[in-house]
Amino acid sequence: MALPARHHSRSRINKRRSHSALKNLNLAKCPHCGRKIVPHRVCPYCGYYQEKEIIDVYRGLSKKEKKIKEKEIENK
Ligand SMILES: [Zn+2]
Repeated sequence: MALPARHHSRSRINKRRSHSALKNLNLAKCPHCGRKIVPHRVCPYCGYYQEKEIIDVYRGLSKKEKKIKEKEIENK
């Protein structure tokens, strides 16, 4: 079985990896609830996109959970 002639130095490995760091997400502000969201996506907190409600975020929640969520959106 063929083997590499010599191993890569730590320096060479680190230089290659210098480009693989994660960059900060460029987050936009939701115009409806004001939280930071990924741009061009439906807001996961209030379910709005372009001033229209796309997702019913209260679906499947109990009365108590619904009240808490409503308060959360109001406060933001
Ligand atoms: Zn929102």
